[in-house]
Amino acid sequence: MQSKTNLFGLERSELERIACDCGESAYRGRQIFRALYRLRASQFGEMAVLGRAFRDRLAGRFSIVHAPIRETCPSQDGSARYVLGFADGEAAETVYMPEPDRVTLCISSQAGCAVDCRFCFTALMGLRRNLSAGEILGQVYSVLEDRKIERGTRLNLVFMGMGEPLLNYDAVMHAVRILADRDGLGLSPRRITLSTSGIIPGILRLAREEVRPKLAVSLNASTDEQRSALMPINRKYPLEKLMAACRAYPQRPRERLTFEYVLLDGVNDTVADAQRVAGLVRGLHAKVNVIPYNSGDALPYRTSPFERVLAFEQTLRDAGVPAFIRISRGRDIRAACGQLLVEGARKPITAIMRPAALPSLR
Ligand code: SAH
Ligand code: SF4
Repeated sequence: MQSKTNLFGLERSELERIACDCGESAYRGRQIFRALYRLRASQFGEMAVLGRAFRDRLAGRFSIVHAPIRETCPSQDGSARYVLGFADGEAAETVYMPEPDRVTLCISSQAGCAVDCRFCFTALMGLRRNLSAGEILGQVYSVLEDRKIERGTRLNLVFMGMGEPLLNYDAVMHAVRILADRDGLGLSPRRITLSTSGIIPGILRLAREEVRPKLAVSLNASTDEQRSALMPINRKYPLEKLMAACRAYPQRPRERLTFEYVLLDGVNDTVADAQRVAGLVRGLHAKVNVIPYNSGDALPYRTSPFERVLAFEQTLRDAGVPAFIRISRGRDIRAACGQLLVEGARKPITAIMRPAALPSLR
């Protein structure tokens, strides 16, 4: 038996074509789009607007599959890590982080990652494959459904899960357009943040997009030498060119670029580093998120003492750069920054699930 084509993840034009192929008008395709993404229909039976006969015909040929939840790991801090499984056995992880006035979802763009940052646990998996637009969107819709999150809830999405979003550009932007569409999830692009290790051609391309997420750049070092040692991608896209691409990135009113800086004990965490970072971002409308490292046994890096984290933040502030310490959530369930990876991955990972002992700001 031939498997059914999944409609979830298709753009409006593709759904219009399918409607026309079925002998209906293109308008019907737009109704399917709205039913899938705005009304979050998960069965054809819920698409009342289409009429019974057309619904039955669609159900005979197509399916609606989000990203099936394989596992949910709740954290003591209220967040939860989801493992979502796909038809070919691959998986991605999504982190749900509720706050009193909003919900943030941290989503993955790839299964694994090829960029190979030395301090990151996802890097240990290597790249398994890109996720499709439907698999990226499916993470959002599956968690919204599981948590019964109503329309109208303030929702933020961050591409800070597994993978380098700018190395899966087309699928990520395809998903972003549906998320931002008024007949899609209806999310303002300002509520979507894309975090990149600094893939310059991707940043330049993103700058030209009509629907454009906010940009976060993982800096993590203050000199080229240091950055190339931590993030080999820096050899291809060095700091000077990266900062030039950031300067050219268009920003909406009151918008700021975000730089992420993971502090690694004795590696990149001195006051002199903070001063150099201030120099790099000078003149940019930007803020720096200072992230204490989440350590684990599989990698040699350690968390900086908290006084050093505070000193780093203060040095940036003294230099006029808005800086904020970000303590990762979900540390007890391995959902914190850089800790996302899926069991059964290529390289041994059993040792890395222990959260680091960090003072909590909460
Ligand atoms: N690939 C993208 C997005 C996913 S990584 C990127 O690199 O930006 C999201 C963030 O987690 C990045 O800023 C990265 O530097 C940070 N990170 C990676 N490993 C970490 C770890 N073990 N502890 C804290 N932050 C980490
Ligand atoms: Fe990939 Fe980001 Fe991890 Fe680097 S930090 S290996 S780019 S997921």
